Amino acid sequence: MNIILLGPPGAGKGTQAKRIEEAHSIVQLSTGEMLRAAVASGSELGKEAKAIMDKGQLMPDDLMVQMISERIDEPDCKNGFILDGFPRTVPQAEALDRMLGDKGLKLDAVIELRVADEVLVERIETRIAESVDGARSDDNVETLKRRLEVYHQQTAPILPYYSDKGILKVVDGMDSIDGVSGQIQGILGPNGAGGGA
Ligand code: AMP
Repeated sequence: MNIILLGPPGAGKGTQAKRIEEAHSIVQLSTGEMLRAAVASGSELGKEAKAIMDKGQLMPDDLMVQMISERIDEPDCKNGFILDGFPRTVPQAEALDRMLGDKGLKLDAVIELRVADEVLVERIETRIAESVDGARSDDNVETLKRRLEVYHQQTAPILPYYSDKGILKVVDGMDSIDGVSGQIQGILGPNGAGGGA
C-alpha cells in the first residue's frame, strides 16, 4: 500500500505516519527527516538544506524528486510506503505520478490532515515550550508562519490535483491523536486502502 499524508506543518503527519507504519508494515518516508539527516552529516546538500529550511522555504523540486525516487527503490519499501512531506508542489506531484508509473507502482490513497492555521500556531508554541534538546532549528513562530504561507501558496494546490483524480480523503486533524488515527484507520481499513486486498 502506497499512501501520501498531506497537511500543513505541525498537522501531525509524522505522528500519524509512525502509527500507520506499525499498523500496516509499510515505511514512513519523510523528506524533512532525510534533509535533517543531511544537515547533521555536514554534507554540501546539508548546508544548502539548512539555509533553506531555516528560512521556511522549499528545496528545489528536482532534488527532492530524485531523493524520493532513490529511496523508494530500496528493499524496505517493497511492502509500500507513506510519503510524509512529499510532494509539496504540483510539479513534485506530477513527477511522482510519472516516477511511480515508471516503477510500476500506484498510489492507494492521499490523506489530508486538515488543521486551522490558528491551531497550528498554538501547537508550535507548545512544542517550543516543551522541547529542550530535540528542538528543530525551524521550530519558531516566525518560521512557522512563513512555512504556513508556503503551504497555502505552493502545497495546497496539490489538493485539487488529487481530488480530481478521486483519491483524496480528508480527515479532521484537530481531533485527538487517537481520533485522527481512528479516522485514518477507517479510510485505509485493516488491510489496506478501503479494506481491499
Ligand atoms: P518537514 O519536516 O516535512 O516539515 O520539512 C522541513 C523542511 O524541509 C521544509 O520546511 C522544507 O524546507 C524542506 N522540505 C521537506 N520536504 C520537502 C519537499 N518535498 N520539497 C521541498 N522542500 C522540502
